Amino acid sequence: MSENETGPTVPCPTCRKPVVYSTENPWRPFCSERCRLVDLGAWADEEHRIAGEPAPPPPDDDPEAY
Ligand SMILES: [Zn+2]
Repeated sequence: MSENETGPTVPCPTCRKPVVYSTENPWRPFCSERCRLVDLGAWADEEHRIAGEPAPPPPDDDPEAY
């Protein structure tokens, strides 16, 4: 009587494949390490785009300051 011990399944956020949500699946709620990395990569890419690069400080060669 242990044929239903795998637990509930959830759709993988990356590929929508049904994933067994249990402690035996280290990548939950993803189906695999690859899907997990894909999701994290997309998130990191968006974060990087929002952050952008800070403007460089103005050069300190103003003749008036001499
Ligand atoms: Zn997946």
